Amino acid sequence: MYFLGNLPRLVGPLLVPSRFPEIVAQSVGGLRTHTLRLAERQEEGKGTTTFRFEPERPLAWQAGQHLLYTLPHERPDKKGTRRFFTIASPPHERQVQVTTRTAEPRSSFKQALLALGPGDPVSVRGPFGIFTVRDPGRPYVFIAGGVGSTPIHSILLDLDHRRLSIDATLFYANSTPDFVFKPELDAVAKRHEGFGIDYVVSPRRVSADDLKAAPQFDRDPLFYITGSPGLVGHYYGLLRRMGITRRRIRRDVLVGY
Ligand SMILES: Cc1cc2nc3c(=O)[nH]c(=O)nc-3n(C[C@H](O)[C@H](O)[C@H](O)COP(=O)(O)OP(=O)(O)OC[C@H]3O[C@@H](n4cnc5c(N)ncnc54)[C@H](O)[C@@H]3O)c2cc1C
Repeated sequence: MYFLGNLPRLVGPLLVPSRFPEIVAQSVGGLRTHTLRLAERQEEGKGTTTFRFEPERPLAWQAGQHLLYTLPHERPDKKGTRRFFTIASPPHERQVQVTTRTAEPRSSFKQALLALGPGDPVSVRGPFGIFTVRDPGRPYVFIAGGVGSTPIHSILLDLDHRRLSIDATLFYANSTPDFVFKPELDAVAKRHEGFGIDYVVSPRRVSADDLKAAPQFDRDPLFYITGSPGLVGHYYGLLRRMGITRRRIRRDVLVGY
């Protein structure tokens, strides 16, 4: 399950030798199992819920990484008892935050997640993933769709906490004006002159002109795209057609949407 779900992520970076250390670290992370206990749950509105978990023993991760959750429950549907979720919280918070879609109709997994009470355990493996910022000094252009904003939330709060200057533009696309994390993201933008956010509500889409207008565009930025497979595929294709090389694009595909 882990291997199949992550095949594109594992094979793609293998073609880039400079990422070997990250791949090794990711594989080691995948061998570790942790127990998390539900600390609190908060409705974000519009069918999205945030869960905060306390790790039983210290869990270290990099902003932008994810965990594989196993949640055994009665009569699982065909999607089964395992899911990947990004760790939406930055590492210094120590509690693991999951922000996910919980609108109906929901899978048996999401029903089981919502049925968890305070202190109930969940088993996770990880952390996994190389959708992380290794060089905070560079300019970045982030494109996030809906709940795909989870890794960007973690990354930005981490950079802000580490008092690093942020030279980036975030294009945040959503089907409605209810953007999850908007207050936190706006607060980061207020503190960092070099960081701007363009909130994009459907049917508007981020265009080539929008991307070119980002202050970072002509300064060799890295492009990070995160969201559903459809959204990531769309913007990856757009960037490639604009002449951006593969090496300058990283993708986090929320398989399952
Ligand atoms: C690396 C990675 C990171 C991820 N991070 C996140 C994250 O931070 N937040 C997040 O929300 N997701 C994340 N995901 C996606 C997550 O793993 C789930 O796939 C996703 O949340 C959908 O959950 P679900 O399958 O339980 O379906 P639901 O969220 O319950 O429903 C999703 C869709 O499936 C339909 N559906 C539900 N049940 C069924 C069923 N039994 N049969 C057919 N269709 C059904 C619903 O109508 C809906 O359209 C990530 C995935 C990966 C690979």
